[in-house]
Amino acid sequence: MHCDEIRMKLSAYLDNELESEISRRVEEHLAECSGCRKELKTLKTINQRIMDFPWLRVSEGFDEKIMFSVAKSETDKKHEQIIRRAIISATNFFESLFSLIRAEKWPSTRSLDEFGDFPPCSLGRVYFKLVQ
Ligand SMILES: [Zn+2]
Repeated sequence: MHCDEIRMKLSAYLDNELESEISRRVEEHLAECSGCRKELKTLKTINQRIMDFPWLRVSEGFDEKIMFSVAKSETDKKHEQIIRRAIISATNFFESLFSLIRAEKWPSTRSLDEFGDFPPCSLGRVYFKLVQ
């Protein structure tokens, strides 16, 4: 095995979690490789410091507070997503509305031909003919 493979197994080796054959191969490598031995020593030091760390007692209901905070955080995220979707929908609605308004031409810009569809002999047709 290469050093990379060995170093990935060192933590499991320290915890006696490796199969005997793999553990034996790790030991063979360690006997020949000073770099991996140094890595193992560092891991042992870290493990020892963690074990020497004083145990702390948490206050009564600490786990419930944590779970409540997590649940609240999830709820806040859901509310944030709902608000974000509402803002996007409103933005899309107003963009569509404004594009419709912009596309709409005012009657003053229309030509008179658009108003020439009066029935024959009607007062509107006569007026239209006079105006033209
Ligand atoms: Zn090595």
